Amino acid sequence: MNEDYRKIQLIMALRNQGIRDTRVLSAIERIPRELFVPPAFAEQAYENKALPIECGQTISEPFVVAFMTDRLQVTDRCKVLEIGTGSGYQAAILSMVCRRVYSIERYRTLLQAADARFTQLRLTNITTMIADGTKGWPKQAPFDRIMVTAAATEFPAQLADQLRVGGTMIVPLENAERQQELVRVTRTEDGFDQETLLEVRFVPLVLGTAREL
Ligand code: SAH
Repeated sequence: MNEDYRKIQLIMALRNQGIRDTRVLSAIERIPRELFVPPAFAEQAYENKALPIECGQTISEPFVVAFMTDRLQVTDRCKVLEIGTGSGYQAAILSMVCRRVYSIERYRTLLQAADARFTQLRLTNITTMIADGTKGWPKQAPFDRIMVTAAATEFPAQLADQLRVGGTMIVPLENAERQQELVRVTRTEDGFDQETLLEVRFVPLVLGTAREL
């Protein structure tokens, strides 16, 4: 089976799973996921599954990447903040559907590899930083959209505060039963609305920086 065929199969599967935004589907079609996974897993790049990356982290399954991007309702005018650059795949997908992506990662090893991929693919609208993502990126706030790609144990208030009014954030959040749910948070004039979208499994959002890593 060649790569193009696998890719078409994946796009069809995502469509069947309810991903309708053609901009999201075309981003998945255009970004080569095989560049974002370790060489040993390149063969599986277009299977609908999460794969291990360096530093004990994971690249999410294509369905979850597509679902989160779709439900974030990003437009080409949006300024988006992503927490947890990891391989850079989600940031690359976001970069195709919005104006600018700011992405924060705590592992330098991961961020250097991700930055190299962005350069190789000429994705010039992504800016990255090594930091504790739970604090957001105050200098660049407010954001139209925020996507957190690691699971929080409590509501990430500092991030929510960096949303503009009317802006939305998608975050995997542990519930009282310690199950992770994707939650969509919308900033209103006087607070935040929350709605639960899907049960998920993400690596944990870790507090604190890791500059030495
Ligand atoms: N979006 C990534 C998925 C990465 S997995 C991709 O498309 O590949 C989650 C990532 O969040 C990991 O790389 C982990 O190191 C990072 N992370 C966890 N806690 C963090 C924090 N407080 N600040 C920044 N990054 C964090």
